[in-house]
Order: sequence, then structure tokens, then C-alpha cells
Amino acid sequence: MQRVAVLTEPDHVVLEDREVPEPGPGQVQVHVRAVSVCGSDVHYYDHGRIGGFVMHAPLVLGHETSGVVSAVGPGVTAPAVGTRVAVEPQAECGRCAQCRQGRYHLCPDIAFFATPPVDGSFAEYVVVPAHRAHPVPDALSDEAAALIEPLSVALHAAAKADIGPGSRVLVSGAGPVGLLCLQVALARGASAVVVTDVMALRREAAAEYGATATVDANDHETGLAAVGRTLGQADVVLECTGVQPAIDLAVAATAPAATVVLVGTGATVTLPLDVVQARELVVKGTFRYAHVYPAAIDLAASGRIRLDDMVTSHHPLEDAVGALLAARRDPMALKAVVHPSRS
Ligand SMILES: [Zn+2]
Ligand SMILES: [Zn+2]
Repeated sequence: MQRVAVLTEPDHVVLEDREVPEPGPGQVQVHVRAVSVCGSDVHYYDHGRIGGFVMHAPLVLGHETSGVVSAVGPGVTAPAVGTRVAVEPQAECGRCAQCRQGRYHLCPDIAFFATPPVDGSFAEYVVVPAHRAHPVPDALSDEAAALIEPLSVALHAAAKADIGPGSRVLVSGAGPVGLLCLQVALARGASAVVVTDVMALRREAAAEYGATATVDANDHETGLAAVGRTLGQADVVLECTGVQPAIDLAVAATAPAATVVLVGTGATVTLPLDVVQARELVVKGTFRYAHVYPAAIDLAASGRIRLDDMVTSHHPLEDAVGALLAARRDPMALKAVVHPSRS
């Protein structure tokens, strides 16, 4: 048997004993070492849903996962038992139109960890397709290997934005994903990356992670003027808040023909059609990622992305709730990590 932490209803997590899942053909079993908490986990904990994704049954949270391959199913030649891996938490159907065109993350039948009804990795063991268990070098800690997941979100967004040498980038929001987008934009050669946030502590963090400048987003007019002084007009916006005033500021700060990538999740927001049209802005949505785990692992192993520094607390599985509440208890908390196999 293994222990798992189950969200039975909003605000209620219990430890349960469950059967250890056995790997089927083409699958591997991973002994979970580290699971970093994502805003989406916290959202399910608070509300039992995110937009159209609704929990109708108990759900195991956690999708930012690393561990060690502990068993392999029939037909699996790699990765071998004992390999340290970052787990890409999605399994696609492989047959639909989106899968056949390489956009497996948009597969309508995708099974993604901790998205109802699929259980996540607040568990001692998980089973995943062998090709979604990506080997990591010793240079990456277990925590960093878990953080390959949100780094993949940032890499996918930066690729959509086509950030390259000379790009002038505005990152809207200095939470964990914003800080990763900042680091990825710098790694891709952006000449300036300005980060906005309403919280002074978050702006300080952005400065520490290499932002060219940071801007207080509390007031639209002074914020816009400050972006103008420090960045000029943005060629690229990576919007990581999903919040209306932040989106308004970011769109106002764009250069003509700029690309605005919407990374932060939100409900319905408005965009100024006159600005989008007059500047011929390109507005793009992003959803998770595809094909980026190996590149994210290499980039992190190169030392150009600081992942371990983003880990601000560690929790045994018994304290999954403490991990979920960490960001609420401490405004400087970035990433809480659950260690299901230690206690
Ligand atoms: Zn996440
Ligand atoms: Zn599919």
C-alpha cells in the first residue's frame, strides 16, 4: 500500500492508504521525491474548481513532480529502474487531430495530473507513460526537477512570443511563473525585461532575478509612465496575472505590432479593441506546454535558470495542507514543496 493526500472537498485534505499503481504496457512507475505546489492546486483546494474544470469526486492534487523510476511496464526499454526523472504530467490519446499535428497538450482526451477526474502526485507512487518520464542530470536537485513543470510553462510562452536577441519584454506579475518568464526571456537574449507587480516584496524578488527594472502596478498612469521610462514600448508582453488592471497596463505599454501572450489564468477579462486594432497587436493564449521538457531540463542544468532559490518551504505528505497554504501565510513564499516519500 502507499499513502496519498486526497482533497475530499474544498478545504479538506485527508491521508489515505491506496494500492500502489502498477505500470502497464509502455508505462513506468515513479517513486515520487518532490512535488512543488502550483496556484492551480491552491485554487482546487479553495474552490473545488478552476473555471470549467470541476471536481465531482475526491482528487489527489499535485502535478509538478520529480522522482525515481521504481518499476517499468511491458515493452519499456527506457528510462530504466533507478533513473531520476522529471515527470511531465500529461498523457495524450495519440490518435486525435491535435495529437497527430503535434499539439498533444490540446488533445481533448488529455489526462493531466490533478485535473478532474485525473489524480495527481501527492502520493508515494505514480504511473506515467515512459516517454513522459524525462531523465534529469545530477546537477538538478529533486526540487529543481519538480520545477521543470512551471519552467516548461514559461518556455512555451516565451516561444509563442518569439522572444529573441533585442526583444524588449514586459512581464506582468512577479509570482513564480512571472519570475520564470523573466529568467527565460533573459536566457533567450531579451535586451530588457521589465516586471510589474502590485507587491513591493514581489518587485524586489524580480529585481533579484535579473529584471532590468521593476514597476509598481498599483496606479495605471504612473505605472505606464514608469514602463515608458525603463523599457520604452514593449515588443512582447508575457501576462502572468490574469487580472484586469494588470492586463490593461500591459496592453497600454505595447509597441505597434507587439505580441501579447496570456499566460496567467483568469475568468472573463476585457481587451481594448481599439488599441488591439490600431497597433495590430497579436494576442495569443497559452495552455500548459508540449515538447519542451527536454529543453527545460537542459536549460536548468546549464545553470542559467535559478530554480532551487525559488523553493521557500518543504513539507512531508502529512502536511500537504501546510504546503497549500504556504503562499497565503507568507507573502514572500514562492514555491512550497511536498516530499511524499519522506516523513
Ligand atoms: Zn503548475
Ligand atoms: Zn489526442
